[in-house]
Amino acid sequence: MISCPEVWRDFFEKYYSEEINNLAFRIKNGENKRALYVNFIEDLSVFQEGKLGEELVEYPDEVLVHAEKGLAQSTNIYGVSLEGCKPRFQNLPSTKRILIRDLRSSHLSKFIAIEGIVRKVTEVRPRVISAAFRCSNCKNIVYVAQDDSTLRYPYECRCGSKKFQLVPEKSISVDSQRVKIQEYPENLRGGEQPQSIDVILEGDLTGIINPGDRVIVNGIVRAKPRGFQQRLLTHMDLFIEGNSIEMLQQEYEEFEITEKDKEEIIKLANSDDIYEKVVNTIAPSIYGHEDIKLAIALQLFGGVPKKLPDGTEIRGDIHILLVGDPGVAKSQLLKYVHRIAPRSVYTTGKGTTSAGLTATAVRDEIDGRWTLEAGALVLADKGVALVDEIDKMRKEDRSALHEALEQQTISVAKAGINAILKARCALLAAANPKLGRFDRYSPIAEQIELSPTLLSRFDLIFVMTDEPGEERDQKLASHILNMHQLGEMLEKFKDSNLKEELKVKISKIEPAIDPELFRKYIAYARNIYPILSEEAKKRIESFYVSLRSKAKENSPVPITARQLESIVRLAEASARVRLSETITAEDVDRVIGIVKRCLAQIAVDPETGEWDIDYAYTGTSKRQRDRIFTIKKIIEELEELNENGAPEEEIIKKAQEAGIEESKTREILSKLKLMGEAYCPKYGVYRVAKLK
Ligand code: ADP
Ligand code: MG
Repeated sequence: MISCPEVWRDFFEKYYSEEINNLAFRIKNGENKRALYVNFIEDLSVFQEGKLGEELVEYPDEVLVHAEKGLAQSTNIYGVSLEGCKPRFQNLPSTKRILIRDLRSSHLSKFIAIEGIVRKVTEVRPRVISAAFRCSNCKNIVYVAQDDSTLRYPYECRCGSKKFQLVPEKSISVDSQRVKIQEYPENLRGGEQPQSIDVILEGDLTGIINPGDRVIVNGIVRAKPRGFQQRLLTHMDLFIEGNSIEMLQQEYEEFEITEKDKEEIIKLANSDDIYEKVVNTIAPSIYGHEDIKLAIALQLFGGVPKKLPDGTEIRGDIHILLVGDPGVAKSQLLKYVHRIAPRSVYTTGKGTTSAGLTATAVRDEIDGRWTLEAGALVLADKGVALVDEIDKMRKEDRSALHEALEQQTISVAKAGINAILKARCALLAAANPKLGRFDRYSPIAEQIELSPTLLSRFDLIFVMTDEPGEERDQKLASHILNMHQLGEMLEKFKDSNLKEELKVKISKIEPAIDPELFRKYIAYARNIYPILSEEAKKRIESFYVSLRSKAKENSPVPITARQLESIVRLAEASARVRLSETITAEDVDRVIGIVKRCLAQIAVDPETGEWDIDYAYTGTSKRQRDRIFTIKKIIEELEELNENGAPEEEIIKKAQEAGIEESKTREILSKLKLMGEAYCPKYGVYRVAKLK
């Protein structure tokens, strides 16, 4: 026998009299959030030796009815009726918290809690719970309770007629929303596919969660048969009827760091060769690429996000792009980082789900409702998003990615959906050159299908070329072959004692820091907020100024303020590796080294050998822009003299006098035409396009 409503009334009056009065007060003032939140562990488990709690878990359907009645019977000082107020239960004991992948038929109709990340939400729409029908014959109104998704009609009217019409304005509805909860990405190791479950939310629970939120949902496990209307199957889909939602604010705290861990981490961070150790922990099976590995390690440690007094926010997350020839281990690196990062989401530009990289709003095929689905960068909130072949991403993602990388939000406004999703993650992306191989003599912006503005949002862009070199090739080959050899042996002789010689070989491809400890190390270090020392500040300043000063009047500008911010972020991460609160000159030197080597690969104009950030990101060097400007002026001058426009031969002649070769001039002329900045009224004659 389960407890009657009066027991529930006693419970509410004993533990929640104050909350009930507050609720009554709000109802009196017209608020319609009619819910009372009950703490399961602290109150329900205490009252009468926890009997109510046990009953709720086992027989939630009947118990919730009794609890609701009991709440309605509770007295309040305002004398307001509490009819229809929902008791909502939170903070269930951990034994009742079930992993999504562990849900079984034994959980059916039980009250449980699940935890995960919100993947999809539909728009909030009314659902009829009591439908009013008018008899076509006698006009009598009949009410039918509705608890399924398909509308149930009355069987027969008093007068014998079986024809009815729905009367929406007399029917009673509640707000309803369906959401999809998915397992945390960080709980999946080794490329497992995350599992998910649908949750139905109603009334005051609707419209409060967004894709990307981390939540606990408490509710009843239900099943519905698969298939459609007349052809229902005996196989069932599980879903949860939500009773309450708890929002979570987790960052890296999900790691339990014991005192012993802490000791180990501090010892590690103080070792002389910590940066080498860190580098040798990132993908030891991949030969070389030390700069990239260090950059990735710094990305995992992260910079410090800042909020300036004027409200501007500066991200702390470091974005890295790997561009390069096929077969240089880009994909392998990304997959490795996925395994080792404390929290990461791996996807390809094309996207494994319909939501792609950012987010999408689509109409549901089955019920026609708009659904907002989180993409990889939203699911990776507070972690790392790993995107392979980013150059193949969808059109929608291209525009949304700008906002996602700099502001770290994704705004969606479509149909009934209006949301700003958080995407506070670092991006590690890989791209292949359009023409298969990277060409050192053309600008990067021309070689991969990413816009200059998007490229400029990456803190570091690495070019990974596959250039033959005897010594390196030999080492690489021996490294890869060793791995293959060892991989097989390790399988065979898992438990037996290995020979010394083999042990040495293995130690070379083993991560220098145990991955489990490394994750804890990162989590621990991310709670440190290093500040620039005066010395470090001077170093960065002088680096910046020295590069800028190379830019004499009218010569290429080698570096922009964006790179300055990148250097600070990287230096912060470098200090975090040592668990240091101060950024030293060495930190700055370390990252300037990487930044320089990166820029040298992409930002040197091959024509002049000079540094030029414009060349890197737009593919048009300062010199080239100057030439374009000169040619335009020549056309304009010639237009003054010639009625029909500037003849091509004369343009070329004048340009030659200004030091521009004929081939370059022709190239620029066709570019101008292409961009619509010049046109040919007649063959061989040019005019500059003027704004009317
Ligand atoms: P990409 O994504 O750049 O086209 P992959 O990551 O698919 O290349 O790598 C192709 C193969 O070559 C992988 O099996 C990888 O392990 C191997 N490989 C390439 N470069 C290296 C390297 N430096 N060290 C070890 N393995 C390498
Ligand atoms: Mg690849």
